[in-house]
Amino acid sequence: MSANPNIRVIDHPVSRNGVPVWNRLHSEREDICEALLKECSPGSETQVAAPRMSNEDAMHGPNWHRELLQARLRKIDDALDRLMAGSYGNCSKCGRWIEDTKLDFDPAVAFCIDCWERMQTTH
Ligand SMILES: [Zn+2]
Repeated sequence: MSANPNIRVIDHPVSRNGVPVWNRLHSEREDICEALLKECSPGSETQVAAPRMSNEDAMHGPNWHRELLQARLRKIDDALDRLMAGSYGNCSKCGRWIEDTKLDFDPAVAFCIDCWERMQTTH
């Protein structure tokens, strides 16, 4: 996956609510990258006193938030890949059109509601 900043975004036909999906995904992607950079910095100037971790931090481990961000980033990259491949909006599993309301709620969503629910229950 190349992160080419010069990629063409203007002519893409997919848009919802006047805001191109591509732009929505990209701005979220940038937010996540920024957050990841902050998470990755060791923060040696500030106190990173491990013994002062709250119970919740200890439970999740120090990297849980970063893993969350990385998982989200993968999802967004997938969606961008599908946008470029022209298969965006179709379920990655059954190929059916994904409901508009679902895409509005989360433009990175990859499955239709049926497949999604099936995955939740079989998990
Ligand atoms: Zn499906």
